Amino acid sequence: MDNTIRIPLDLPDVQIQEVSQNEQGEWLIRVESRIHGTQCHRCGRQITHFHGVDSAIRLRHLPLFETPVLIEICPKRYRCPHCEGHPTTTQRLSWHALRSPNTKPYEQWLLRLLVNSTIADVARTLNISDETVLGVLKRWVSPQVNWDEFESIEVVGLDEIALKRGHRDYITLVTVPLMPHGVAILAILADRKKQTVVDFFRSIPTRLRESIQRVCTDMYQGFVAAAAEEVPQARIVVDRFHVARAYHKCADAVRKHELKRLKQTLSKAEYRQIQGAMWPFRKSPDDLNDEEQALLDRLFTYSPKLKLAYTLREELTEIFERNYTKTGAQCAIRAWCKRVRKSGLDEFESFLGTVDTWLDNITNYFLEGWSSGFVEGFNNRVKVLKRRCYGILNVETMFQRLTLDLDGYEKFGFT
Ligand SMILES: [Zn+2]
Repeated sequence: MDNTIRIPLDLPDVQIQEVSQNEQGEWLIRVESRIHGTQCHRCGRQITHFHGVDSAIRLRHLPLFETPVLIEICPKRYRCPHCEGHPTTTQRLSWHALRSPNTKPYEQWLLRLLVNSTIADVARTLNISDETVLGVLKRWVSPQVNWDEFESIEVVGLDEIALKRGHRDYITLVTVPLMPHGVAILAILADRKKQTVVDFFRSIPTRLRESIQRVCTDMYQGFVAAAAEEVPQARIVVDRFHVARAYHKCADAVRKHELKRLKQTLSKAEYRQIQGAMWPFRKSPDDLNDEEQALLDRLFTYSPKLKLAYTLREELTEIFERNYTKTGAQCAIRAWCKRVRKSGLDEFESFLGTVDTWLDNITNYFLEGWSSGFVEGFNNRVKVLKRRCYGILNVETMFQRLTLDLDGYEKFGFT
């Protein structure tokens, strides 16, 4: 019975000379180029004066049944009869990049493994060093955006990221939503200073910079000022999700204060009845099941103040759900602010200040052309990207890693 199989090597332009296994059990496949001649590195002409072969190099290739495979080849060298001094040029083969210790199929496989993973994980899986993985990433993924890939940029997102929780070092993520769904990264800036963002806008080719119609941003003066100066034609939109985070925080502050008060004033048995109310309180009414609704109702009978905070919070969310015009939205939000002031809930005080400062940018959300699904989709994708940034401290590598996450399968998948 024959238990061997024959499989094609699938590397073009080479002839297999010998297959053996070394002491480590790795497959060693010795091959020879079947191509004659190369292009002179100086004059670019086709040259065929054979000069000899270089010493053998070993390149890591795709493993066979999890056994590592090395391709061994002695690169051919050719002499140019035309150039002065008759320089020699090493022949390049289509499946190997200059100075790489791996074959191209191996590197593309590695890149697919790296999508949504980490350098350390891939290095461990393949039993190679972190540096090898980084080297592959550097060879294949540009550390900067290629502007030629864009016809126009309609929307730019500016988001700040604190690299470590509670850390004060911020970087800036610059993104564009791609239709119908998707996102591309334009840059990762090393800080969030206004000047840095200004410099970035200036680095965008004029034709593209002039095509920007909206800049979506956090409520952060540095971003807004930079965008207003450098892309004056664009509307600056503080998106509703950043706003929502701010007023949800106010309602949560009321919850904390009230629960603390109730813990002191209610009997133990009574307090037990409202335990676990935090999660239902955070949900919108539509997302509550009957049990959660009952729990919230009990909580609200003990604390009318909390009911008020919850109602106000949901009223504002409701405003963002409606098809207001910009002016209509401004009226509705101002009326809401009045109700908040009347409520006497001090916890919302800071948010009223936020509305005063940002109302114009906040209500740009209601200008035509936005659908909330679009904004939410964009925002969710940015959130995923932001999460992926934690732990990557090198801004350049971060750009390459996130770009790979976004289109690695497409770029390095099977064709
Ligand atoms: Zn030449």
